[in-house]
Amino acid sequence: MEKKQFKAESKRLLEMMINSIYTQKEIFLRELISNASDAIDKIYYKALTDSTLVFDKDSYSIKVTADKEHRTLTIRDTGIGMTAEELENNLGVIAKSGSLAFKKEHASQDGHDLIGQFGVGFYSAFMVADEVTVTSRALGSTQAYKWESTGTEGYSIEPCEKADVGTEITLKIKENTEDESYDEFLEPYRLKSIIKKYSDFIRYPINMDVTTN
Ligand code: ADP
Ligand code: MG
Repeated sequence: MEKKQFKAESKRLLEMMINSIYTQKEIFLRELISNASDAIDKIYYKALTDSTLVFDKDSYSIKVTADKEHRTLTIRDTGIGMTAEELENNLGVIAKSGSLAFKKEHASQDGHDLIGQFGVGFYSAFMVADEVTVTSRALGSTQAYKWESTGTEGYSIEPCEKADVGTEITLKIKENTEDESYDEFLEPYRLKSIIKKYSDFIRYPINMDVTTN
């Protein structure tokens, strides 16, 4: 008998995921920081086999910037970045874990382990954001690309400017509603405590930058 694959309604699936997989909204920051850390790890691994690449741990970092006035939270890394094709493949396919495959391949030979575990990490950003913009420039490329999405309505990708290799993810933090407040995700002390709680084990420095107006 022929075995058939289930089909899924991606829009419904995404809605379900955003609203029910995670019980705590704050973990979106853990997911985005672990992706940033994975992206830096990928340069580290590349440098092991590519002698033209030098991995100087001190020049790699993750930066979190909150802008209360514009209600944006930005997570920037100096990792490996993504090409237009990678933006499409990595952020356009729901619940496909790229890190899982990468993790299996590099199964902790030297204790330098990747943190990403689930293929739903990135989309957790939509628990707290109306709109997510990812600007990325891949290692070895001069052209950068911008991926933009409001969640269930799909996404767009277009060329853009970016001075350095790496990825910058900007979340437009949701407006408060009657029952939910999102302001906390723009508060430095709150962000710092989330980072401390979940990202203590990240090997690269995480810097906080706050714009208060
Ligand atoms: P996972 O981390 O389990 O693979 P995610 O949903 O968190 O799943 O991320 C999906 C993929 O998107 C990652 O595997 C990675 O290829 C890509 N990605 C996400 N964030 C970044 C980033 N900051 N830099 C480079 N690639 C990223
Ligand atoms: Mg992840």
